[in-house]
Formats: sequence, structure tokens, C-alpha cells
Amino acid sequence: MTANASESLSSGCESYRSTASIHHLASAVLPASELPVQIPVVVMAPHAHFTSAMIEELFCDRYHLHPSGVALPGQRFATLETVDLIGPQGWLRKVQVIGPPRATNQIEISRTNALVLGLRVPVRESGDLIGTPGITVQGPRSQVALGTGVICALRHVHMNPEQAKRFGLKDRDRVEVATRGTNRRLFFQDVLVRVSPRVSLELHLDTDEANAAGVHTGDFVVLTRRIGEVTASN
Ligand SMILES: [Zn+2]
Repeated sequence: MTANASESLSSGCESYRSTASIHHLASAVLPASELPVQIPVVVMAPHAHFTSAMIEELFCDRYHLHPSGVALPGQRFATLETVDLIGPQGWLRKVQVIGPPRATNQIEISRTNALVLGLRVPVRESGDLIGTPGITVQGPRSQVALGTGVICALRHVHMNPEQAKRFGLKDRDRVEVATRGTNRRLFFQDVLVRVSPRVSLELHLDTDEANAAGVHTGDFVVLTRRIGEVTASN
């Protein structure tokens, strides 16, 4: 990529002075025509995925979640429903429920949320819930004690198969991305790649990660390189 092409791709965004070095890092794995790959950020506030049975227990019989915006078939959607989480040392109020219902209850919070609740919560991929702590969930109808299912989500980037092919990536690869800006710029390593159809290209960070880097939903990061396989740990 020429310097001019790099500039034109960056135009309209806040200035990013390290494009040349990012290009150098990424050029080992990405076609030059794809550089720099810019990925929109979505900051994930604490949220809960529940089973249909859990939703009925917390809200009412045959209860259906109410999407807060457009809900496309088969895709996750934000809802108008919230619950409170009650931990050993504190509460987390108005935690958004995410639809549609899932096969397993899972609650995703940040490390700061975990401190407020008084829980030790591991960083895990979605669905990897063995050995994770539980929590008491307060809904409008009842209070339910979950034995397991609270995680800090491993940061990840969603992309569809066409995008993955273009970037030379596959499901479960790990990549590194760089945030932009001037004061708190960071590289995020060990970003899990999740490839599936009908998803937008999005980096999902929790609120702690986003705050540390000073990024918000709608900001962009730059894909810098593919890195080795790293396992999430406690
Ligand atoms: Zn995600």
C-alpha cells in the first residue's frame, strides 16, 4: 500500500500516526490490498443470556423478551428487560438481558463488576462455563440462584466467512489489534476470532478494556497481526 492510499483510508477518522509500523507488523499475514483493516468496536456492558425456563422463572409464564431495536431472525438482540445481580458483597442493578433465549444461562461482566459483587470471575470464551461462579438473579417475578455461569468474556472479533478469507484468518485464530487516539493507545493481544455467517465485523470489548484504552462503541481499531494460540486462564 502506498502512503497516499494509507492516508485516504484514514481520512475521516481521527489521525493515526503509526499506520506505517502497523502495516509492517501486519504485512506478514495479510494481503497488502487489505491494509489497514479497520474494525468497529462494540463495548459490551454487563449482560445476561438466559434459557427460556429461566426467563419464565424471572418474569412470568410464557414470557417473550422485547427487543429494544430491530431483531433479525437467528441473531442476538438487546432487549428492554433487565435483572439485578446479587453477589456476596454487592449488587449490580439493571443488567440487560440479551435475546434470543439460549440453551445455557450465562452472565458476562467486567472485572470491576466482579469486585463490586465480591466474586472471583475467570476470563472465558462464551460457553466455557465449567468451574465458573454462580450468582443470585433478581427478576420482577422471583429471585433465582444460579450455581454457575458468570464470566468475564474473552475479548473477541466477529467476522463472516468472506471477511475471514479476505484477511487470511479462520475461526478461533488469535489476532492483535491496536486502538487509536493520543492518550491511552493500546495493543490488545489474544483477541479471539469468531467466524460465523450473518455477523458484522465487530470487536467486542468489556467496559474495563474499553475504558483502559479510552475507546467507545463506534470507534475503530486496526488489525495488526495474527498471533499464537493462547488459552484463556483464570
Ligand atoms: Zn461478541
